Amino acid sequence: MTSDKAVLTATNLTKRYGALLAVDRISFSVRSGEIVGLLGPNGAGKTTTINMILGILQPTEGSIEVLGKDMRRYRSEISRRMNFAAVYAHMPANLTVRQNLFVFGLLYGIPHLRKRISALMEEFDLTRFADIKAGLLSSGELSRLNLAKAIMNEPRLLLLDEPTASLDPSISQLLRDRIQAYAATTGAGILWTSHNMTEIEAVCHRVMFLSRGKILLSGDPCTLPAEHGKQDLEELFIAVAREPLQLQRGRR
Ligand code: ATP
Repeated sequence: MTSDKAVLTATNLTKRYGALLAVDRISFSVRSGEIVGLLGPNGAGKTTTINMILGILQPTEGSIEVLGKDMRRYRSEISRRMNFAAVYAHMPANLTVRQNLFVFGLLYGIPHLRKRISALMEEFDLTRFADIKAGLLSSGELSRLNLAKAIMNEPRLLLLDEPTASLDPSISQLLRDRIQAYAATTGAGILWTSHNMTEIEAVCHRVMFLSRGKILLSGDPCTLPAEHGKQDLEELFIAVAREPLQLQRGRR
């Protein structure tokens, strides 16, 4: 269940690389328990936005608040309350599943760590891979490990950059179910990027379409396509990618 309490608020967030405005004064929030899809064509600015929220990139302008605290002043406190998973964020390949979780658990200062690791391995069906090196896991197993690591510190804000990319439909559904259950039971807010529109329709309470660094459209993924004369989210996505100016004019 979502609430009105914002776990993330971005205000006029901007990132400039020389002449390129990769993210152009975007403002948005993610509420407690809410799953928000951050969508847009390649190069729209999604990863740059996520990296600014994670504190990996410094915004050129604008502010980020997590749980009401400004990122610039409370970065280390905020870092403990959020987490992240992405296919490109590799786990150390020469450590086993259990060792990986142990190392991250130490970094996050998780109490009763061994117990927590056992519970996470059970939840993500990783127990039988506990002593296998991460570098030998299949992509589905690795994604489950990534997600187990991402919820290890019980984050109030979870950032997921294409968490189910390259997974088979059955594993994708399993991970989606886990993530939805996590948001519903803990009240965490989730920002989710994906190029899979069927998945986005199934999990997100709200979507924002980025185009050339700006938020072009936002709303309920089930009703937004019809509001713009499109049949479904996939058709709307293609319009955002190919005719952003037409959509923008239609909004006025
Ligand atoms: P994708 O869906 O392909 O992952 P994205 O929406 O995540 O794309 P970003 O990776 O945020 O897009 O990139 C936004 C724009 O900023 C792109 O034009 C990209 O080339 C540019 N960009 C990203 N990082 C840098 C950098 N370090 N220096 C210069 N330009 C960059």
